[in-house]
Amino acid sequence: MTTAQYPTRDGGAFADRHVGPDADAERRMLETVGYSSVDDLMDAAIPEVIRWTGNLDLPPAATEEEVIAELRALADRNTVAVSMIGLGYSGTHTPAVIRRNVLENPAWYTAYTPYQPEISQGRLEALLNFQTMVTDLTGLATANASMLDEGTAAAEAMTLARRAGKSKSNVYVVDADTLPQTLAVLATRAEPLGIEVRVLDLATEPPPDDYFGLHLQYPGASGAVVDHTPLVDAAHAAGALVTVAADLLALTLLRPPGEIGADIAAGTTQRFGVPMGFGGPHAGYLAVRAGLERMLPGRLVGVSRDAAGDPAYRLALQTREQHIRREKATSNICTAQVLLAVMASMYAVYHGPVGLRAIAERTARRAAALAAGLRTVDGVEIVHEAFFDTVLARFPGRAAEVVTEARRRGVNLRLVDADQVGIACDETTTEAHLATVLDAFGAVAGQTGSPAPTDPPSALPAGLARTSDYLTHPVFRSHHSETAMLRYLRRLADLDYALDRGMIPLGSCTMKLNATTEMEPVSWPEFANVHPFAPDEQTAGYRDLVGSLEGWLAEVTGYDAVSVQPNAGSQGELAGLLAIRAYHRDRGEGHRDVCLIPSSAHGTNAASAVMAGMRVVVVGCDPDGDVDLADLDRKIEAHRDTLAAIMVTYPSTHGVYEGGIAALCAKVHDAGGQVYVDGANLNALLGYAKPGRFGADVSHLNLHKTFCIPHGGGGPGVGPVAVRAHLAPYLPGDPSGADGRPAISAARYGSAGILPIPWAYLRLMGPDGLRRATGVAVLAANYVAARLRGHFPVLYAGNKGLVAHECILDLRPLTKATGVSVDDVAKRLVDYGFHAPTMSFPVAGTLMVEPTESEDLTELDRFCDAMIAIRAEIDKVGSGEWPKGDNPLANAPHTAAMVTGDEWSHPYPRSVAGYPTGVDRRAKYWPPVRRIDGAYGDRNLVCACPPPEAFEN
Ligand SMILES: *Cc1c(COP(=O)(O)O)cnc(C)c1O
Repeated sequence: MTTAQYPTRDGGAFADRHVGPDADAERRMLETVGYSSVDDLMDAAIPEVIRWTGNLDLPPAATEEEVIAELRALADRNTVAVSMIGLGYSGTHTPAVIRRNVLENPAWYTAYTPYQPEISQGRLEALLNFQTMVTDLTGLATANASMLDEGTAAAEAMTLARRAGKSKSNVYVVDADTLPQTLAVLATRAEPLGIEVRVLDLATEPPPDDYFGLHLQYPGASGAVVDHTPLVDAAHAAGALVTVAADLLALTLLRPPGEIGADIAAGTTQRFGVPMGFGGPHAGYLAVRAGLERMLPGRLVGVSRDAAGDPAYRLALQTREQHIRREKATSNICTAQVLLAVMASMYAVYHGPVGLRAIAERTARRAAALAAGLRTVDGVEIVHEAFFDTVLARFPGRAAEVVTEARRRGVNLRLVDADQVGIACDETTTEAHLATVLDAFGAVAGQTGSPAPTDPPSALPAGLARTSDYLTHPVFRSHHSETAMLRYLRRLADLDYALDRGMIPLGSCTMKLNATTEMEPVSWPEFANVHPFAPDEQTAGYRDLVGSLEGWLAEVTGYDAVSVQPNAGSQGELAGLLAIRAYHRDRGEGHRDVCLIPSSAHGTNAASAVMAGMRVVVVGCDPDGDVDLADLDRKIEAHRDTLAAIMVTYPSTHGVYEGGIAALCAKVHDAGGQVYVDGANLNALLGYAKPGRFGADVSHLNLHKTFCIPHGGGGPGVGPVAVRAHLAPYLPGDPSGADGRPAISAARYGSAGILPIPWAYLRLMGPDGLRRATGVAVLAANYVAARLRGHFPVLYAGNKGLVAHECILDLRPLTKATGVSVDDVAKRLVDYGFHAPTMSFPVAGTLMVEPTESEDLTELDRFCDAMIAIRAEIDKVGSGEWPKGDNPLANAPHTAAMVTGDEWSHPYPRSVAGYPTGVDRRAKYWPPVRRIDGAYGDRNLVCACPPPEAFEN
């Protein structure tokens, strides 16, 4: 295809809106790079051995209007029933002010993970609110800034208990009254680590003598509220650590885990205003007692100070994390659930402690009223006297009939077994819903005239009543009017730099357009308000959507089967490696446990390999940045009999299409290993090459990179795992455990609620649009490389000096000569109105730039111009015109307060500080804080909201 064939912007084709440069801009970019067409460029850049020249077998592109109509038709095939299934997923009212101004607001949903804290103070404050909310409600010391879901949070708690405890036992005791999907995820995660999960009914069976950890659900999956104190004390006496998986809403009324001695609390914050979404995404949480914070997995926000000594937020204790510690990390978590954590925290801000307690009390009274009504039905017995929101009704032999009768009346109940029905209340439960449930029971019992619900007090045991205060910080007591809430959300959003302000050229992260049409269906009730365990007949639209999406992803990657269950790239990695592990075992080669990982790999790779029970062996890179094939030979030779897999990223994390990939795959296969291709860089391949066809056995994709799910400030994500046929039997399965396959996340389809986004992207682009996006992404990266090469060396290149979809700018020689660091450049870019590129990954001291296809030429040029201007500034430091410690780079970023301060002693004018070349004076982004001292905050760890006085100048 030549550029002349591209349609001009007639308003019809979505691809013309998604792709930034128009035909004219594309011609100019090609001229700079030195090619006559995108296809010529791609022919030169992509090695022949991986090139795939067929047409993608996808439906042709549809217009935005057509795609919305198709999604509407799919949505209409889902039934939104009244959900009283419970089991960790509750109906909730998302306050409209939060839905519109967070979930539907690009200022929040297009932001990146807050690695550049100076431009992320808004979301960092929201996350600090989240951590404060979780620590207050659980009664523990420190909470992280979200987990992927309750099941994986419980699994991380298990491994934390193992790391932190002194016990030598490998037994993890789990109470039988635990959510079934949590049991499934625990089993999946325990097996490769040699942990024995022992599920016991602790109400009747005592724990064994020796175990390293104990998991309790509070309230139980059955609804029972039990005082766990004796079990906690017994566990501590046995040297075990205790995790309590607690419902945060219940904790407004119940004595919290921290006060019954728990070491760890885990769970979900879904019912704090986040729709069920057929299973996700929601923010899980994890909190620990004092002393365990340095072993906590996941992102943790903390308070530090900036260059002026003012308080400022940033990610704390990053040395625990996979991007630094790799195979020694506390977990493989990278993308988490930031957007959902922000929503949940804002729900707490909006309702405040009094409002939350009122919601909890109303919910508990509804459940008590239901139980009272049910007691008047002949043959029905209420199993537990003490409960919060869930009633377990015993109706021997009649449970299935009751569930059917209720479903006929529009209410979903939980069929526990032939004799028992579970009925969960939540903040959306009305008296009419209770009457419907009683009517269904009455009909089965043959009783005429429905029993009337009464309004007794809740059925919570007095001995477990919460006496301690919570959410005492003013932020939870100040924004209760809608006006105040709206302004708080706006104030925080304005502190941050997201894609709605400008380019975020983050290598490896693919910060491309998240189109509004792709986003809109996510908040439709037919997608938002479906319980993951809703009966199949109510979810036909969802299952159709998942089926076509998995099929399309298989087609574009060349694999045979796909599962969308993993809810982040890291989880897709684990799923893929577990598939490899199971495959080897089934062939009698269970001893294969070595995973080769190039030194340039993303940190999640090594961390995931360890979680899959593998040993990591690092393969070096050659001076060109490619995998060193000679070192590969040596490592294969050394581990030939135990080689399980190699994990490589393609194109490499160095942003290059490596010519040696086919040979690499062949070498590993010859030695009996499997090839895992990390698909995070698929934006450089779609339509031009298929990993499943050039030798790989399994990949994960990042739908929050290549397929337009917004980053949300650090999640949600979807990390589907794609495999060739021989690995298909080992893909993730139903967390109900019915199919004997691993449960990678708590819900069958993971973060199903955001799957309409990639579905819409694929439908809108069609085969030609996807190919064009890839071509323009590669063109844009080469354009940036061509423009900047004379100012900053481009570290690696492949065929004909071309890069793939990103390029690494090497600052090390300049740093050596002038002392100006990669940090200085990143922070100075803020003054110029940009988010910094990826810093020091995969090579320390460099910046990795990924422009994506969605940035137009004006924005690409604005970025290149800023970088060139910064280079001139570096030269002024180098020449001594500006002193090393006091120049616009060392002092960046500059706040408005600094630039307008009454004193100015710096050797450059204020205008250079605040309005450097090319900055639009009417549209200047001012960071709210100066450069943040991260180490100070790690030494003085504070991970909850500081008192307001801390901000008084
Ligand atoms: C982003 C990324 C990952 C991790 O994906 P998450 O969704 O953040 O867990 C893994 N590998 C590479 C190369 C990546 O860029």
